[in-house]
Amino acid sequence: MTRVSCPSCRLRFTSAAAAFLTTCPVCGDELQPVASAEAILGYRLFEPFETESLPMAGEVALPIDDLPPDRS
Ligand SMILES: [Zn+2]
Repeated sequence: MTRVSCPSCRLRFTSAAAAFLTTCPVCGDELQPVASAEAILGYRLFEPFETESLPMAGEVALPIDDLPPDRS
């Protein structure tokens, strides 16, 4: 499995990300091949679509005073 990392950002990349990335998307440096897992111990895994940045659905409260009267 090919692993790459960015030592400047202390980021590691999955093999899927390494397949289409040649430079670090954060700092633009060239990605470095990783010889062993110990070399990237403590590095954060780069996730291109971090869940915190996705829009969250918010709760919406609608007033019920404006509803038309029940005509039954
Ligand atoms: Zn970087």
